[in-house]
Amino acid sequence: MYAKDISVKVKSAKEERKKQGSYTGGLAPYGYRIGCRDGRKYLIPQEGSKDMVKKIFDLFLSGKNKKEIIRWLYEHRVAPPREYHRTGCLYAQKQEELQQWAENTIQMILKNSVYIGCLHQEDTHQAIISKEQFQAAADRLNSFRLKYTVYSPVRQTAFAESSEKDVFTGLLFCGSCGSKMKRSYQYRKMDGRKVRTYRYCCPRAGRIDCLSCKTKDISLDTLTDRVKKALSQDVVLSEAEGKKLLAVRGRIHNPLALQRRQEQIIRMKSEQYLKYCRGQSSMEEFQRKKKELENRKKLLSVKQKEQIEIEKQMDAKRARQNQWLKDFISGRENHELHREILEIFIDKIQIYPDSRIQIVYFFQGKR
Ligand SMILES: [Zn+2]
Repeated sequence: MYAKDISVKVKSAKEERKKQGSYTGGLAPYGYRIGCRDGRKYLIPQEGSKDMVKKIFDLFLSGKNKKEIIRWLYEHRVAPPREYHRTGCLYAQKQEELQQWAENTIQMILKNSVYIGCLHQEDTHQAIISKEQFQAAADRLNSFRLKYTVYSPVRQTAFAESSEKDVFTGLLFCGSCGSKMKRSYQYRKMDGRKVRTYRYCCPRAGRIDCLSCKTKDISLDTLTDRVKKALSQDVVLSEAEGKKLLAVRGRIHNPLALQRRQEQIIRMKSEQYLKYCRGQSSMEEFQRKKKELENRKKLLSVKQKEQIEIEKQMDAKRARQNQWLKDFISGRENHELHREILEIFIDKIQIYPDSRIQIVYFFQGKR
């Protein structure tokens, strides 16, 4: 109760300081430092970093996009805010320590009203950016957003489709840097229709700093073709291994074991009855044990029913997988890549800078 009282008090004191225009956050936003006056914390523009905030606004308003701003900052060796807070140095000291700014950081700076002197209310501290500039930047950011909204009917279907299953989820890795490959999409016109096409790329491919990666992106169609080709060669080569794998991965708990446990309980019940008849246990003792055993039997029978159901579903799944494998080995065309099948055979797929792909199979080690 006492602790709760304190937290309420702390909260209301914080609200009060906020109302007076005090800075109640932790680290000062990039471009500012924290000063103290009459026991209140407030923001003061910081020499150096405040000019960088101005520069970011100038670049954006001169027509540069976020990627171009990131390139400018990188080429001028400006340390990203997190690094700046850590070292206190506006510029990276060593080339190898220099990381590029995140797009999100640029976006947050362009949208943060702290730079026109507003904290919860207007004019709480000295501005770095004029209100006109801030508004112009907001308009430009908005115009990007509006561009999307114009296409909203398309985007809506795009969202519906983007939940379209990705058969390669969790399986694709960049062979060069080890990152998980990301799926993206774009629209192509095909027979007068807009068709969505997917590509996979390394998340580091677009970077310009020391973390950049040279792996090129690959389209879903190319990847699917290559994986199919590789699977038909490698799985056919080790057909026996593939079948063994299906058997092992399809095996589950045997419902017969549960049946045997139930029979055992019936035997135990009659033993208890015999004990009672021989006068080795009382009527109460017998009734208690009997009830206990009956409850255990009921539980087991429920479990058994559940397992039979699971087994049935597994059988159907295995039949589908076996059929697929048979078709695949016989070389019949039009077999689609199913997630189920990929999961049985493939541990991971690596994509290399020279567009080569390497598949790591579950059965590889046993060959
Ligand atoms: Zn990579």
